[in-house]
Order: sequence, then structure tokens, then C-alpha cells
Amino acid sequence: MTNTTPGMVCAHHHLYSSLARGMPAPRGNTDSFISILENIWWRLDAALDLDMIYWSAALGAAEALASGTTCIIDHHESPNAIEGSLATISKACRDVGVRVNTSYGVTDRWDNDGNLHSSVNRSVKMTSAARRGLDEGLAFIKSGGRGMIGVHAAFTCGDETLSEAAALASSLGVGVHIHVAEGIDDLDAGSRLESLAQDDWLLVHAVHLDRDLKGSIVHNPRSNMNNSVGYAKPTERPNPILLGTDGIGANMMEESRLAYVRLREYDVTQNPTVVNTWLDNNYQFFPEAKNDKVVWSYDSMESPWHTAFTTDMQVLSVDVDNERVYEDGELKRMDIQEVRTKAREQAQRLFERLEA
Ligand SMILES: [Zn+2]
Repeated sequence: MTNTTPGMVCAHHHLYSSLARGMPAPRGNTDSFISILENIWWRLDAALDLDMIYWSAALGAAEALASGTTCIIDHHESPNAIEGSLATISKACRDVGVRVNTSYGVTDRWDNDGNLHSSVNRSVKMTSAARRGLDEGLAFIKSGGRGMIGVHAAFTCGDETLSEAAALASSLGVGVHIHVAEGIDDLDAGSRLESLAQDDWLLVHAVHLDRDLKGSIVHNPRSNMNNSVGYAKPTERPNPILLGTDGIGANMMEESRLAYVRLREYDVTQNPTVVNTWLDNNYQFFPEAKNDKVVWSYDSMESPWHTAFTTDMQVLSVDVDNERVYEDGELKRMDIQEVRTKAREQAQRLFERLEA
């Protein structure tokens, strides 16, 4: 019986979404996957600048520690603040005491005249925005940053951009971090990525993926339910399954409990050890998190049969690399009140831009 676990890992996050809560109501429809992207997330990411990105990441990192998560695999997009965005996220996480692997999600949905397209033809030439996104990933990794090459999704990229991203990732010895068949609008993802995907790729969602692809699949049950895209049926896939939040916090205990009940709804013969395997797979990307120490308000943390059904456990303290970075609601490297205040100020700026 123990009240201690290793640090937890979130295998898919969007730290830029930490400021989104409380944002102004969208003006257009939000009754489909594409309209949710168009009228919420693609308006939000286009309004971001580097100050907003820093404080959004700092808030997301602080909240990750408060839930025992010490490592985050982040996927970032800010089409009007591309250059320097990954270093900004990396610095914010370091300042708080969280490890991050971040990538810039390239896309051709913004054409060279600045017009937004909700999907693009596969024959479209690489846009300058996509080129700048790849360059940002390259510059970040070349300068020693921990990252991958990010791609938004096949349905917003031409074939040229997909193959350039795959080639760049391979030349850098990293994988591609990409949303795959999250909604039915990305049904062609399987055929278009089949010749490109590698074992070190992170395939996010794979709800409607019509074939097997090389790589690990990241399951995000809360996000999938929130966007009503369907159940990903992770137990039917041959790939390693990892667990992420897709930008709604980084509380992996909570996400794993949600993953468990969603799995049981689909197949009542499954048990909590299955979801525990998914959490374990997250350590492939951050093996050092196993040396981090999280102390909880609950004993029997070693048993998935306990953690799957205990909904009120609290994190008491977190040590990363033997340094206490969180204890009793307080960060040790930064002032949590300052993080919340600055994040609120940046959220206000962001909301004003969205209203304008
Ligand atoms: Zn995502």
C-alpha cells in the first residue's frame, strides 16, 4: 500500500487552450466538428501572441503539477505568432518545473492571402504559413528544444506539406505529432498517411481511422465526448495506446477514470488494468518521469482497481528530479497567484481580440 506514484505524463495537450475557458460565446454555429474548429479553436489560435502563449502555458503547467502531471506532450498552433512560439512554451514550462515536448502543428488552411479554408485539396502547394511552421519546429529542435514535428491534420494539409513534414521529422530523428481521423471530415487520413507514418509517430484520436498505421495512438476520451466525434475503440487497435487530454487540463488520473468508464460503456468485460497500460505507455516519451515523486491523499495508489473508483484524491506534493516543485497548493518555483493573475490579464486581452 502506497500513497506515492511516479510523475504522470499527458501524451497530448494544447497548452494554448488554458486561456480559453470563459471565452466569449462563438458567433457562428458550433453544431459539428468542423464548425467547432472554425468558430472556436481556429479563431482562438489566430488571436494568440507570445505573451498570451507564455502565460497560457505557465497556467497549464501549474495546473498539471497540481494534478500530479510532470510531463506534457504539447501540440501548438498560433498562425499570427509562429516564430519563437515553441521556445516560449518550453520556457514557461521550465519556469514552473514541468517537462514539455512541444511541436508546431503545420497546416495549409491559411492560404498565402490570409484566407481560411476549413479543408484543403490534397494537391495544394505548401503555403508559406506551413513552411514557417516547419521552420519553427526545425529551429526549436536544432537549438536543443525537446520536440517533434507537428502537423494539424491531413484534411487541412496538401500532400506536399505532409511529405515535407515526414521527411523533416525523419531527418531530425523525431516523430510526427498529428491529429488523425478525429472526425469523419478526416476520413482520408489513413490512405494519405499510410506510406509516411513511422513507429515514432503520435497519431492523435484515430476515431475514424480506416486502416492500421505505424505509430502510437493517443486516446483523448473527454475531448472526443465533448466534440461528439464518436468512440475511438482503442482496445481494437494493434498500436500502443497512450492517453491525452487534448487541451482540457492535464489531470491524468481524472482522464484515466473517464477512459475507464467510457471503455466499460463500450465493453463491460474490460477492467481498469487496461487503462493503466495506456498510462504506462505514456512513459515511452518521458522515461525520467518514473523518477518523479507524487504524494497523494489516498493510499493504495499502486492498484488501478482503487484509482479507477476513487474520485476525490488530492495531490499533496510533487518532486521533479528530486526538487520539490509543488506542495499544498503552492508552486515552489513561481507564485501561483501571479500565474493566475497574469493568465487572467492575458485571457482578457485575448477575449477583447476575439470580440473585435
Ligand atoms: Zn489535439
